[in-house]
Amino acid sequence: MSEFSLIYTHFQHATAKHKNTILGIGDDCAISRIPPDCELVSCVDTLVAGRHFVFETSPHAIGYKSVAVNLSDLASMGATPYAILLGLSLPNHDNDWLKEFSRGIADICHQFNVELIGGDTTKSDILTISITALGFVKKGQAIRRDNAKIGDVICVSGRIGTASLALSYILGENGRCKHSNSINELSNHLKTALQYPTPQVALGQLLLDYANSMIDISDGLGQDLGHILKASGVGAKLYLENIPCIDELNDLPLDKKYQHIINGGDDYQLCFTMSQENFDKFTALYPNRIYPIGEIVANQGVDFFYQNQQVDFKIQGWEHF
Ligand code: ADP
Ligand code: MG
Repeated sequence: MSEFSLIYTHFQHATAKHKNTILGIGDDCAISRIPPDCELVSCVDTLVAGRHFVFETSPHAIGYKSVAVNLSDLASMGATPYAILLGLSLPNHDNDWLKEFSRGIADICHQFNVELIGGDTTKSDILTISITALGFVKKGQAIRRDNAKIGDVICVSGRIGTASLALSYILGENGRCKHSNSINELSNHLKTALQYPTPQVALGQLLLDYANSMIDISDGLGQDLGHILKASGVGAKLYLENIPCIDELNDLPLDKKYQHIINGGDDYQLCFTMSQENFDKFTALYPNRIYPIGEIVANQGVDFFYQNQQVDFKIQGWEHF
C-alpha cells in the first residue's frame, strides 16, 4: 500500500468535519477559521513505543491516548479543542493495526468534537506518534501557570495515582510487561486509567471564570504543581490526606501510596488554584466536582502535611533527561 492510499484509507475521513475547517486533509496545508474574539491555543505531544506506552498496548488504546494527552493540555488552559494534526512514524504498513489505531483516534475525536485536519506519515524503526492539537479560547482568558496567588486554594479535578498504580502492576524489573497479557489482567478501572484517560475538557472550561492558574497532571502531581509554583514565584502547603485516590492505594503502606500520588504520572487530571471566595462560589454551584488539597503560600517550595503533622517527602516526577 502506498503512503497516499494509507492516508486515504485510514485517515482522510476518520473524523467529522468541524465548522471551523475550510479545507481538511488533502492539500499541502489545512485551512481553518479562528472564531471571532478568540485566540488560538496549540500544543504537541509525542508518544514513543516502549517509552510512553508498553509495547503490548492495543492500537485502539494508543490512538485514543495519543489524542487524550493533547486534549488534556488544551483543557489545562481552559481551551475548547478544535482539531489535531497527526505525525505518524511507522515500522511497517499493518492494515489491521492502522484500522484499529485510526478507530481509537476517531472515537476520542468524536467524543470531543475534534477534527483530524492533517498530518505526516513516515517509516521508522520505532513506532512514534506526534500529535499537534489546536483549540480556541476567548481573548486573554486562557488559564496559565504563572498566575497563582498567595492564599489561593490548590485543587485537583479527581483521583490521583491510579495510572501509576496500574503501571506498577504490569511492569517487571526490566520495565517491560511481566508477560504479554498483563494489561488484560488489570481490573477495568485500572486498565481505563492507564489506556483511556479522560481529558478534563468540560471542567477546564468551567474553571475559566474561577481559577487563577492551572496545569494538567502528566508527570506527577508534585512536579506539575511545582511548575505552577515556579512560574508564579510562590510555594505551597499540601495536605496529603485530602488528595483523592482509589481504595487500592489506601491499602498500601503510606510511603508507597504517596509515591504513586505525588510522583506517579499519567493521571491527566487538572491541578489548579483559585481564591477562597471563588472556591466557595464554585463548589456551591458544582458540588463534589473539585477537591481542595492545599494552599498557596509565600514561602517557596512545597511543605507536606499528614494529619496536621509536617512530613518529609521528596518530589521526583517523571523526567526524560
Ligand atoms: P506533502 O508532501 O505536501 O507534505 P503529504 O503527502 O505529506 O503532503 O500529505 C498529504 C495530505 O495528507 C496532507 O493534507 C497531509 O496533511 C495529510 N496527511 C499525511 N499523513 C497524515 C496522517 N498520518 N494523518 C492525517 N493526515 C495526514
Ligand atoms: Mg508533508
